[in-house]
Amino acid sequence: MTLTEPAADLDTDAQVRANDRGHVFHSWSAQALIDPLPVAGGAGSTFWDYAGNSYLDFSSQLVNLNLGHQHPDLVAAIQEQAGRLATIQPALANDVRGDLARRISEVAPEGFSKVFFTNGGADANENAVRMARLVTGKRKVLSMYRSYHGNTSTAITLTGDPRRWANEPADGSVAHFFGPYAYRSAFHSSSPEQEAERALEHLEQTIVLEGASTIGAIILETVVGTNGVLIPPPGYLPGVRALCDKYGIVMIADEVMVGFGRVGEWFAFQAFDVVPDLITFAKGINSGYVPLGGVVISDRIASHFDTVSFPGGLTYSGHPLACAAGVATFEVFQRDGILERVRDLGDRVVAPRLAAMAAKHPSIGEVRGMGLFWAIELVRDRETREPLVPFNAAGADAAPVAAVAAACKKAGLWPFTHFNRVHVAPPLVITEDELVRGLDIIDAALDVADEYV
Ligand code: PLP
Repeated sequence: MTLTEPAADLDTDAQVRANDRGHVFHSWSAQALIDPLPVAGGAGSTFWDYAGNSYLDFSSQLVNLNLGHQHPDLVAAIQEQAGRLATIQPALANDVRGDLARRISEVAPEGFSKVFFTNGGADANENAVRMARLVTGKRKVLSMYRSYHGNTSTAITLTGDPRRWANEPADGSVAHFFGPYAYRSAFHSSSPEQEAERALEHLEQTIVLEGASTIGAIILETVVGTNGVLIPPPGYLPGVRALCDKYGIVMIADEVMVGFGRVGEWFAFQAFDVVPDLITFAKGINSGYVPLGGVVISDRIASHFDTVSFPGGLTYSGHPLACAAGVATFEVFQRDGILERVRDLGDRVVAPRLAAMAAKHPSIGEVRGMGLFWAIELVRDRETREPLVPFNAAGADAAPVAAVAAACKKAGLWPFTHFNRVHVAPPLVITEDELVRGLDIIDAALDVADEYV
């Protein structure tokens, strides 16, 4: 394991680029228009290329690397498990799989004793929806505009952002609704309380007009992730819960991005006074060291399958290497007080610094977030709130935000940008010094955005 940055190696750089561009077909990309950075290694909150450049990782890759690059406990757990039992099929019982399921149910609310393991987030959502449909006997699912739920058939249909457009119709039984987004309210509300109230009225009308007798589930990201770090206003999630109860609908909380520490809770909904029926997770459960996701199932729903077979499964469900990394994740979280650390760094370091940036940079429309999950929303005009780049901008239209990202990279920070936003989502193990250095880099890079105002 290399934990220090090696010297530049331009021959390897060229070889990696040649193999990648020659043979790897990349996600979400026009293949001839991309130039992926060849990555040589990483440690903690930093990774580096073959050309001698290192980057502070403010994206946690795809917001999955909660315990950072090459965490020694996770690497050791995977190595130990590989030496003992590298794989075993899911119909057999296994020690680490059971250990991890027990630990997950212990941090979930009372009455969630069972976990169904998947390979990632999309198939977790896919299977949660399947459970809801089987239990209620109702097929339709409601999900939010401005959401991402994954890239399999039903998960991409649930998604309420442009990634769905080229893939529809995949699952005809999905309808979308507007969730709360106070800064760009669909309901012309003037306070978070009013936003919650009006968003709930809209959701109830959607339920009535789509037909409560046809709707098996409502799925939502507890805190909307790639579509803007949208924190639900007070009362919204309990209101969704009440509507689900009123109309016999299963409530699914997609915790794939925010679960396991990103906002300082095991599950983000634990900060919002609500208990869903099904909880989906992936990413942070083991930082993506080996692919893993799953569904935490309320006992009420699980009991439906006590004597009726659940018609679903995956060859690698509960893979021992992935589960070993999950068990190690729990141990690190508990030993190192990760949840407390995330809340502390969010409140004490990130929140005041982003507020200071908002006061200084005319291009900042709003900053919002919690824990180590924040968005800086960039605008051309604070009065009109015109976004710095148009919705779904590409190419020349996206240039202002691309220029901010380029300035960050030049200064040694790997940013997470999406449409008109810069997100702050570093590994949860980032040191305070690194966090401050990263925020300094973003602060300086936003001078570039100010030039477009
Ligand atoms: N749900 C949410 C909220 C996500 O952010 C993602 C991925 O970013 C997914 C589901 C899909 O997870 P995966 O890519 O592991 O299938």
